[in-house]
Amino acid sequence: MPIPRLLIIGLDCAEPTLLERWRGDLPHLDRLMRTGVSGQLESCIPAITVPAWSCLLSGRDPGELGIYGFRNRAARGYGALVVADGRAVRHPRLWDYLGAAGWRVAIIGVPGTYPPPAVNGVAVSCFLAPSTTATFTHPPELADRLTAWLAQPYLLDVPDFRSTDKDRILADIYTLCDQRFAVAQRLLAEEQPDLLMLVDMGTDRVHHAFWKHMDPAHPDYVAGSPYQDAIFAYYRHLDRRIGELLAACDAQTAVLVVSDHGARPLMGGFRLNQWLLDQGYLALHTRPVVPEPFDPSAVDWSRTRAWGAGGYYGRIFLNVRGREPAGAIAPADYEAERSALAAALTALPGPDGAPLGNRVFTPQQIYRKVRGIAPDLLLYAGDLAWRVIGKLGGDGWFTRENDTGPDDANHAQHGLFIFADLARPAAGRPFSGLTIYDILPSLLARYGIAAPPDLRGRVAAW
Ligand SMILES: [Zn+2]
Repeated sequence: MPIPRLLIIGLDCAEPTLLERWRGDLPHLDRLMRTGVSGQLESCIPAITVPAWSCLLSGRDPGELGIYGFRNRAARGYGALVVADGRAVRHPRLWDYLGAAGWRVAIIGVPGTYPPPAVNGVAVSCFLAPSTTATFTHPPELADRLTAWLAQPYLLDVPDFRSTDKDRILADIYTLCDQRFAVAQRLLAEEQPDLLMLVDMGTDRVHHAFWKHMDPAHPDYVAGSPYQDAIFAYYRHLDRRIGELLAACDAQTAVLVVSDHGARPLMGGFRLNQWLLDQGYLALHTRPVVPEPFDPSAVDWSRTRAWGAGGYYGRIFLNVRGREPAGAIAPADYEAERSALAAALTALPGPDGAPLGNRVFTPQQIYRKVRGIAPDLLLYAGDLAWRVIGKLGGDGWFTRENDTGPDDANHAQHGLFIFADLARPAAGRPFSGLTIYDILPSLLARYGIAAPPDLRGRVAAW
């Protein structure tokens, strides 16, 4: 058997159109594309890191997982949203199926793996780990080996990646990437895993921190920025690290390169809670003069029908009598209220008077099951061209200021995939129509492992 049998290189947020544009300068990724199949990979809704990697690895949708973003409602009250860590994932993931079939696995930095899962092999947690003083590896002693291998303390993430200190962010992004690949090489040599999987977060962080320096389509683009090639240079660096890792793998190793979603320029922010306030859905005891974070104690809940949470996409919660503590919508009016709100948001004009292009989803439409407490509506502002802002106060529904710090990019619905497998030479065949739900059943089928009968995805004809 080749070591590893399967190598998965996750590139969080890697954008397929950038890869296509630059593949002439990315020889290792280009070679995988020329020998395998490649194309765009449709993400889940929402196209957000948490839950997207867990959807990819479990074959389940966010509703089945009950994970609707980084932060979720834990109860029907009005308290703060709660971060969904790996404990929220109740379905088996790829390494569970492979481990049960006798595969030794080594996984590094896969979002949704804190606390570290007890895999058949070794695991290094993701950025959800609070720090490296917490137990962030399986087995716990693996942390000491990481310390011995690396010149600097292991980075779980780029600290404060929405900062104006661009040089510091860039240095941390490279350290993050180099450490991931260095650990992968060590684990490959010392553990001889059958599955080796790492996820690089640098691609996500570099997009969010540097997109406006690269893209004339970005509203804040400045020609000739010293950072204009920062993203390109990072993709080239990544390609070199991928080449080194591939050189250490067996020639027969099957390779999957995949991103959980893509990236696009961020055109601005839609102030969802301010809009709900101005439309009379949300009532406050006192209206702030300047934008302030959403504060549940400032809300007059008895007169509030809906409120929202911001981020790369928007979540809207309805305040329903008998369901929420001070519900204002009669249960019999729920569907009519929800439909009217969805219609108003869908028709919303942007700052130039043309339709913003909002897309509004109900969980029941897009998921096979709805576990936990889902938002009543999910909003893609401008179909993800706009971020959703949770702060309210002051005037206007649109802003150029992000309420959580500088951010140049939003997520895009389609990520990328490349699958190169010498046992199935594909000679660079393009492949379209693949969804994030198809990856797990396709890999299980490739290795003759039975998949649950109720998976949403299909086995791809790779
Ligand atoms: Zn992501």
